[in-house]
Amino acid sequence: MVVFGGTFDPIHRGHLHAAGHVSHSLGDVVVTMMVAPSPQLRHPPEASLQDRWKMLTLACESDLALKPSRFEDRHNGPTRTVQTLRDLAKTNDLPIVWAIGMDAFRNVSKWYQSKELPQVASFFVLSRTVRQPTEMPTGFCSVQEPSQLLSNPGGVFVSTEPMLNISATEIRRRIRGGLDVSDWLHPEVSKHIIKNHLYRG
Ligand code: ATP
Ligand code: MG
Repeated sequence: MVVFGGTFDPIHRGHLHAAGHVSHSLGDVVVTMMVAPSPQLRHPPEASLQDRWKMLTLACESDLALKPSRFEDRHNGPTRTVQTLRDLAKTNDLPIVWAIGMDAFRNVSKWYQSKELPQVASFFVLSRTVRQPTEMPTGFCSVQEPSQLLSNPGGVFVSTEPMLNISATEIRRRIRGGLDVSDWLHPEVSKHIIKNHLYRG
C-alpha cells in the first residue's frame, strides 16, 4: 500500500501533482491520501477536519489513482504517523510506502520513537528543490529505483522530479488577503472554500 499523508489545509495542486508522480513512478499504483486529524510538530490546522476531509474527497473524485482515507481518524488524540504505520502493517502487505515531502522527511528522526519502523515502512521523498545529500533515519537506507521501495521495507527513495512551488500556508495567506488562488486548487475545492468562507481570518 502506498500512502500520501497530509494536513490538507487545504489540499492543493502541489499535493495532487506529487501524488500523481508517486503513483506513476511505482507503476500506476493507487495512492491512499490520508488526512491527519491533529498532526504533531506543527501549528494546528485552520479548517475543521470535516472541511479538510470534504475538500480531499472533492479533489480525489475525478482521479482513479487517488483514494481518500480517514484511517487516522480512528481514535482521539494526536495523530502519530508511527502508530498509523504500525496499525496499517497489521492488516496490509508490507512494506507500507509512505510518500512525504522533504520538509516533513527531515523530521522523521524526531518522530515519537519506533524501533520497528524500518521493518514495516519505506519512504518516497518528494523534494521542492534539487536533490541534496539527506541524512537517513536510523535503520533506513537509500535506494536508487522507486520500485525497490515496493519489495522491501527500510528503503528511502529521494525523487529528483521537481515539485510545484505551492504550499497551503501561502494559499491561506493569500485568501486572507483577498487574493485569487483558484490556479492552485482543484476547481471543486475552490468552490468549497468560497462557499464556506474558509481561511478568511
Ligand atoms: P502547510 O503549508 O500548511 O504546511 P503544505 O502545503 O505543506 O501545508 P501539508 O498538508 O503540510 O501541505 O503536506 C502534506 C505532505 O505533502 C507533506 O509531506 C508535504 O511535505 C507535502 N507537500 C506539500 N506541498 C507539496 C508540494 N507543492 N509538492 C510536493 N509535496 C508537497
Ligand atoms: Mg507542510
